[in-house]
Amino acid sequence: AKVTRLGPSPTGFIHLGNLYGAFADERLAHQSQGVFILRIEDTDDKRKVEGSEEIIINSLDYFGIHFDEGATLDGEKGAYGPYCQSNRVALYQTIAKHLVEMGCAYPSFATAAELDEIRQQQEAQKLLTGYYGEWATDRNLTEAAIEAKLSAGEPWVLRLLSQGDPSETRQVADGIRKSVQVHPNNMDAVLLKTNGVPTYHFAHVVDDHFMRITHVVRGEEWLSTLPIHLELFETLGWQHPVYCHTAHMMKMDGETKRKLSKRKDPEMSLSYYGEVGHFPEAVREYLMTLLNSNFEEWRLANPALSLEDFPFSLDHMSTSGALFDMNKLNDVAKDVLLQMTEEAIADFLIDWATKHQAEAAAVFTRDRDKLIKILAIGRDEKKPRKDLEYGQQIFDFIKYFFDEWFVIADELPENVDAPEAKAILADYLATYDQQDDNENWFGKIRAITENRGYAVKMKDYKKHPEDYKGHVGDVSTVVRLAITGRRNSPDVWTIQQILGETCVLARINNYLE
Ligand code: GLU
Repeated sequence: AKVTRLGPSPTGFIHLGNLYGAFADERLAHQSQGVFILRIEDTDDKRKVEGSEEIIINSLDYFGIHFDEGATLDGEKGAYGPYCQSNRVALYQTIAKHLVEMGCAYPSFATAAELDEIRQQQEAQKLLTGYYGEWATDRNLTEAAIEAKLSAGEPWVLRLLSQGDPSETRQVADGIRKSVQVHPNNMDAVLLKTNGVPTYHFAHVVDDHFMRITHVVRGEEWLSTLPIHLELFETLGWQHPVYCHTAHMMKMDGETKRKLSKRKDPEMSLSYYGEVGHFPEAVREYLMTLLNSNFEEWRLANPALSLEDFPFSLDHMSTSGALFDMNKLNDVAKDVLLQMTEEAIADFLIDWATKHQAEAAAVFTRDRDKLIKILAIGRDEKKPRKDLEYGQQIFDFIKYFFDEWFVIADELPENVDAPEAKAILADYLATYDQQDDNENWFGKIRAITENRGYAVKMKDYKKHPEDYKGHVGDVSTVVRLAITGRRNSPDVWTIQQILGETCVLARINNYLE
């Protein structure tokens, strides 16, 4: 059984990379009857934002990510807490003292100005910057000197007394990259900050050990400090978890591929998906195609199975950065929505609208049955229409069914001017019968077409356009435009069945006014 954890920092923002990692964590744990933990990594006071925990938990919950242990909206669950790093400071300090006693950590009094001076000299000499080797002069302070500085109240941090020789290399197993080459650590990394609070390096090592984490899925930005983490585990005599470093997600920006950016790309923020109403099932399904290269093949062979049945594996994760493509997500959504019932889609829309589109929420709730009929159009055919993607898109797509939003959005076809359109619609109105079946209805369109001098067959029109005012498409487009406000829509007869006679007649009469 694998034990994994997600360790987001409460910065008020949870992003797609977190979700990507969370999926891997969740699958690894639950596929092996293991445990998945939510740990809040809040040791950086400056970045802490009130209410973040709720955002984190709710955002992940939206995508069906549930934890077995850790922070929840009402307290914590699990026997390995506390799960919030700020409540574990006493533990970190105990381990820190132990490291000092072992001679593996020391207080350092270097001021910001001194550290800056060191960095400048290192830069001038083109050396690696940091507190290490002969630059780490506080390593050599005598006990008496330390006592004196402490009693003078000089601020200090606790540093690791690194032992590694960076001229050597070693291979470390990585769950995703198989093996990564690292140089043993010689950086005297800060373990406790001046306020006694641990750094990420120290806190996560202590936590991953005591929370018996077996696999750590995290971003590749941590590869460079991996040697520090390994040295800490080894110094403390603990077995380190299997680190699994994911590659940063990419996107196409015009012709160039670049990293997805929190600053530039709205789709990077998880809250975005809720706001525009992406179906969590679709996002899950799409992310799985990015997580495991063999997922699409599996899905084709197993269209009806649930995601949980897919044999997720770290072996099929990309080391070069998955390409995130909104259009692909929408394509996946079209397929996912085909598998859902109209009722389920309608309820999702109502829920989304309630949170993000108050006006639509009122209308959808009032007309739930109608909404379901609209969503059902064309879905039971052999080659069903696939054009539903996400909440906002569906809303824009079906707005014209509701008088609240009905407008004539398109122009008349080229062959028809306004008086001619009215004449066509007057004819339409004269023989309109709500009881007509599709065939009868089309017979009437054909009759208007012929009587008014339009070609019934496209090929006749193409051969001798000069003989006709236009063709049957022009006539039906005028009718469609008056009833839907658009030149493109599903079958007009079907739409009329949903709108009902009163509405159809009112729309045509309005047009004629
Ligand atoms: N708190 C870290 C972050 O938000 C977590 C990294 C990790 O998973 O180890 O980046």
